Amino acid sequence: RVAAFLIKQHLPSAGFSGDGAAPRTPHFDVVVIGGGHAGTEAAAAAARCGSRTLLLTHRVDTIGQMSCNPSFGGIGKGHLMREVDALDGLCSRICDQSGVHYKVLNRRKGPAVWGLRAQIDRNLYKQNMQKEILNTPLLTVQEGAVEDLILTEPEPERTGKYRVCGVVLVDGNTVYADSVVLTTGTFLRGVIVIGLETHPAGRLGDQPSVGLAQTLEKLGFVVGRLKTGTPPRIAKESINFSILNKQTPDNPSIPFSFMNETVWIKPEDQLPCHLTHTNPRVDEIVLENLHLNCHVKETTRGPRYCPSIESKVLRFPNRLHQVWLEPEGMDSDLIYPQGLSVTLPAELQEKMITCIRGLEKAKMIQPGYGVQYDYLDPRQITPSLETHLVQRLFFAGQINGTTGYEEAAAQGIMAGINASLRVRCKPPFVISRTEGYIGVLIDDLTTLGTNEPYRMFTSRAEFRLSLRPDNADNRLTFRGYKEAGCVSQQRYERASWMKSSLEEGISVLKSIEFSSSKWKNLIPEASISIGKSVPLRALDVLKYEEVDMKSLAKAVPEPLKKYSKCRELAERLKIEATYEAVLFHQQQEMKEVQRDEALRLPEDLDYLTLRDVSLSYEVREKLHFSRPQTIGAASRIPGVTPAAIINLLRFVKTTQ
Ligand code: FAD
Repeated sequence: RVAAFLIKQHLPSAGFSGDGAAPRTPHFDVVVIGGGHAGTEAAAAAARCGSRTLLLTHRVDTIGQMSCNPSFGGIGKGHLMREVDALDGLCSRICDQSGVHYKVLNRRKGPAVWGLRAQIDRNLYKQNMQKEILNTPLLTVQEGAVEDLILTEPEPERTGKYRVCGVVLVDGNTVYADSVVLTTGTFLRGVIVIGLETHPAGRLGDQPSVGLAQTLEKLGFVVGRLKTGTPPRIAKESINFSILNKQTPDNPSIPFSFMNETVWIKPEDQLPCHLTHTNPRVDEIVLENLHLNCHVKETTRGPRYCPSIESKVLRFPNRLHQVWLEPEGMDSDLIYPQGLSVTLPAELQEKMITCIRGLEKAKMIQPGYGVQYDYLDPRQITPSLETHLVQRLFFAGQINGTTGYEEAAAQGIMAGINASLRVRCKPPFVISRTEGYIGVLIDDLTTLGTNEPYRMFTSRAEFRLSLRPDNADNRLTFRGYKEAGCVSQQRYERASWMKSSLEEGISVLKSIEFSSSKWKNLIPEASISIGKSVPLRALDVLKYEEVDMKSLAKAVPEPLKKYSKCRELAERLKIEATYEAVLFHQQQEMKEVQRDEALRLPEDLDYLTLRDVSLSYEVREKLHFSRPQTIGAASRIPGVTPAAIINLLRFVKTTQ
């Protein structure tokens, strides 16, 4: 009753109701703090799961703001977006309504590691995201800065842990909740840096969160400090694009969302990007002015894979670095120079820019800047993203030491789902490393922690041949629907149709078998003469690079024509054919480990010096300290990868 009174007293003045006329509830199942990429996914997911949810954020007009690059996706990150989409998350669908240049990265490699990526219209993304969030049933949005958490006293006879039961806003108002998700990004004690000047801010134009950072520290959370930065923005009309390399978008565009066959704008109407490079004069300006650049001198760690121009010049002197000139939007007059993140004083930034080819007359509209902020050691959270210290308190996004919109969105959706399940006393929804990149991300964070901004790469996933962007729906949609309740009926039906069509298509392709001469117009001469007498299945023919479902259906119209008509189905069948043999091998490996779970490991194994077995030093150390008794026990040590387990298993078997 007390809670009801407080909420009633304080919510109505600033609240935005997700369902228009719905009366305001005095107590929320889930409160999400922060309307960035983690917070929007968390709030929408909790609401989709059936929880009455409140999104509390500084400003409604910054919900969905892209703080840095105007793009989504990329290598590894595109996989995360497909997985978020498979769980009915928002970012992929919103990108497909706002993308202005679609390009798949890593095309020269296999489809398992293709990186779906697009330049996004920054304003359109924000508008579309706000529309989606403000129209989500069960979701209420309120402006406000959260300053403190309301906790129950620990109950020593039960868990001995605090439990969160609400939040206090900076104006003293309170909101009660059964679960709370914190997604405050770079705002915890955030400080902005340009040259030698610093001032407190979460990002340009936004106040930092200081009180909340103090609360978390007081509660005993281990806090670290990280930094990142953003490039200056340049006036489009001041750039001489005519002398630069132009990159055109893909045609056709590959949408991010499984629910879309096309994107909102045709490839021929999309915008180009341009490429230029730094030069020795840029290096000189950076090196001559290091004394004026305190962000660079700071010992806090910055993003290794998205470094500032200063870090690149210091680490790789005398090299020319790429600068991609990316559009900020369809009608935007701004260009984002990707690769030129910098914290020199503003006048030196302009001097540096104008040394670069094509930018000789460039007008800088906003200087680049750095931001330094608190993050929480992610080993303090469980795989469901709930904190070990405080029950029902969840952390997601950059607060956990990651960098990037996609990493934030992936954690956000998981935190939102789990916060909702927790309220309903249901088991947590956890994705394993063998099921998805989301599992890899959360497992890495919660078991290994991080001391530099963590970003996703395909190389972090051991089972990347099966964790492909094309099959994320098959891996996650059904679990999301049945176990979490976060997936709509429409998506479930679409995924079910695709799954059964794929299974049927593969079995038909396996059943069609002809001698090689039948396929002679499709596959290279050399392959035919080698295997002349061997019959070939249509599935094997589809593995050849030059063959696709269309050409295969021309050779055998019945029954294949039907599978070549839907572009997505045809492409997915081709990918399935490509990976059939390797995946079979990988599944055998998984079964091998399961079969030999009980195999005993020799007690005198010296893991640190062990030769003839391929194990990283990190894995050796873990095995050395834990001294597992069996292969099964070794496989459960956090950070000991499945690939390492296979190698160890085979080694032990040969020595017995
Ligand atoms: P954010 O998107 O930062 O959202 C946090 C939200 O929480 C905001 O809406 C804020 O208003 C709200 N909030 C914070 N505190 C409170 C509070 N107490 N009460 C209520 N609301 C609160 N990523 C890259 O991959 N590459 C880069 O080069 C890169 N450079 C960056 C440069 C800068 C200057 C910044 C700021 C970020 C950069 N990023 C970069 C990171 C990227 O923007 C984030 O990874 C991503 O936005 C994180 O999403 P999030 O939801 O965790 O946090």
